[in-house]
Parts: sequence; structure tokens; C-alpha cells
Amino acid sequence: MEQTNSKQTSERPVAIVTGGGKGIGAACCRALHEAGFTVGIHYRESRKPAEQVLSEIGSDGFLLQADLEDTAAIDAMVRQIKEQAGRVDVLVNNAGISINEPMLTMPITVFDAQRAVVRGAWYLTKRILRVLMFRRGSGRIINISSVVGHTGNAGQIPYTMEKAALDAMTKSLAKELAGRGILVNSVAPGFIDTEMTRALPEDIRNAIVANVPLGRMGGPEEVAEVVVFLAARGSYINGTVIHVNGGMYGG
Ligand code: NAP
Repeated sequence: MEQTNSKQTSERPVAIVTGGGKGIGAACCRALHEAGFTVGIHYRESRKPAEQVLSEIGSDGFLLQADLEDTAAIDAMVRQIKEQAGRVDVLVNNAGISINEPMLTMPITVFDAQRAVVRGAWYLTKRILRVLMFRRGSGRIINISSVVGHTGNAGQIPYTMEKAALDAMTKSLAKELAGRGILVNSVAPGFIDTEMTRALPEDIRNAIVANVPLGRMGGPEEVAEVVVFLAARGSYINGTVIHVNGGMYGG
């Protein structure tokens, strides 16, 4: 757990972004801050990138550390959020991993690792709801899924299963929480320029871009602007998946 003592005293609404130090998560932190939120920037091991985002946001941000595979670490993080921010208005479940290999050769440990991340999103959402959101009678939960959870993708079976599961959680939880004024939606990015996709070989990246009607990768900030819309506006959007993919797939 992050060791910080200063309680956020402003009346700004509070957004928590998992995996907020890098890629799409970092763009969400910046954009949410610009939109008027105090932002809890969560990371697992990439402390320096998270500190960089915090340095840009300044006193309207705070760091949170937890491995989302570890429920005790999530409990500790939720306690920290309660002590430090006292409220949560928006939770962005963004953290994720993508391990690519055909089914025939993929070890079961990869399946377990992918599943652990969506399990972590489920548990964090449950804890934040219980401790910080449910009684407030308002809030937004935004899950970052993926176009491939809808289209399927060779070499990514556990990843596509995890993302489809996240979208299913969105739809079911939206029905559970609508009466409480808490809206739940997914944002499903297509092919976005981050560390995750930079890890792919160049020929594969080029082949994917060739299938994007807009003819380019998306920027993390192009996903973040949709997240901000769902966080701050979109008052009649609930239980749905918004695709941000340059025309790869329309839903
Ligand atoms: P990224 O740059 O690789 O960042 C992934 C983030 O997830 C990191 O901040 C990482 O934190 C965190 N994370 C991973 N495992 C974790 C765990 N067990 N506990 C806590 N944090 C964990 O990826 P990205 O491209 O920005 O992706 C962000 C989200 O968008 C992911 O859910 C991804 O599946 C989804 N997405 C991305 C694309 C794309 O084209 N990039 C497309 C569709 C969907 P640490 O570095 O601290 O470990």
C-alpha cells in the first residue's frame, strides 16, 4: 500500500484509474484531471511512470499500489482510498495484460494469469461499491474491455474471454445498480498505440493497421476522451459497450 498521509481536502469528485501509470490508464488520469476530478493513480510495479503522471497532475492526484491478483492488497488499497479521499465517484477498471500464443501451445498458467486480472476488477469493484460508492447513490464504473472480446482473435483466446467477461459484468452490474443511480459501461478500444501493442512484432502491427479503416492506430487520449464523457456526462448511457476502434468493428 502507498504510504501517504495527506488527505485530499478539495471538494473535487474523485476518480480511481487502475493501471493509471501507463498507456490508456495514464491518458485517462490526465483527461479526468483536466475534467475536474481528483485522481487516484493506481499501479502494480511501474512506480516511476505513475509518479510521472502524478507530477503532471500535482496535488489533485495521489498514488495507489496493489497487485490486482491479491485480494488483501485490494482491501488495503480501498482502505487507503477511504482515508485519503473519503469518496469515489468514478472507477475505471483499466489494468490488463495481453499474452498472445495459439491455444495448442499455450500453458494453462497463461489462462490463469488472464483470468486473475478480471477477477481483480470484479473484486475491486465490489469493495469500492461496498465501502465508498453504494450509499452515495451516484457513481460511474467504466470497464476497459477490447474489440477482440467481440470479434475474437487468433492467439488471444484467454484475453478475448477475459474482455468478453468484463463486458458481461458491465451489462449485469448496470442492471444491479441502476436503481442506485450508479451507471456502468464499457469502453472497448481497438488497436491503440501503447506499451502493450508496441511489444508486438512490426509485421503484425502493420497487418493490424491495414485492417483499420481509418488507416492508423488510435492514441490513448482518444480512448480517454470517451472515458471522460462517460465519467462526467452520458447520464442516460448505461450497461453498454462503446467501441473506439477507427472503424474496425461497429458493435
Ligand atoms: P499497458 O500500457 O500495458 O498498461 C497495462 C496496465 O495494467 C499497467 O499500468 C499495469 O501496471 C497494469 N496491470 C497489469 N496487470 C496488473 C495487475 N495484476 N495488477 C495491477 N495492475 C496491473 O496497456 P494499455 O495498452 O494501456 O492497456 C490498458 C487497458 O486497455 C488494458 O485492459 C488492455 O487490455 C486494454 N486494451 C488495450 C488495447 C491496445 O491496443 N493498447 C486495445 C484494447 C484494449 P504495472 O505496469 O504497474 O504492472
